[in-house]
Amino acid sequence: MAATRERSLILVKHDGVQRGLVGEVIRRFENRGFKLIGLKYVQATRAQLESHYEDHKGKDFFEPLLAYGSSGPAVAMVWEGHGIITAGRAILGATDPIKAQPGTIRGDYATAAGRNLVHGSDSEKAAKREVDLWFKAEELLTWHRAGAQHLHDKY
Ligand code: UDP
Ligand code: MG
Repeated sequence: MAATRERSLILVKHDGVQRGLVGEVIRRFENRGFKLIGLKYVQATRAQLESHYEDHKGKDFFEPLLAYGSSGPAVAMVWEGHGIITAGRAILGATDPIKAQPGTIRGDYATAAGRNLVHGSDSEKAAKREVDLWFKAEELLTWHRAGAQHLHDKY
């Protein structure tokens, strides 16, 4: 069976980097059985964040989101696997961390929407756009995760 190509762009945003949670975020996706195919430490520009968050242009939190997000480094990742978009959003938890379930990243580590630590693509269309925004094609690796047949019945 051909490997699933479903992908999600996951960011550890600047607050996540400052809080020392990069490893914790990676651990949760890795332990779940997803495959990391791209990873970089990035200083996002305002223009890049403006494009990333284009759907939110005009909202009251847009400007603070760009200002804080571009104030220091973030970690950008592409994770791959069956169901990664839905599962990734569940691993992150609700946008407002006060409403996020314990056991999610936001529910365990955050209390403010403007410091909710992580980003995850919310649809296949968004994932494609976001992956293309943060990564060049040659920065994404094709590799076989050993034991994949024991993690997935679709692989
Ligand atoms: N955000 C905020 N206040 C809000 C809603 C959103 O500061 O009332 C920020 C928050 O950091 C969120 C980002 O804007 O992660 C993008 O919002 P979206 O609704 O897309 O949430 P997400 O997809 O990240 O859960
Ligand atoms: Mg969103």
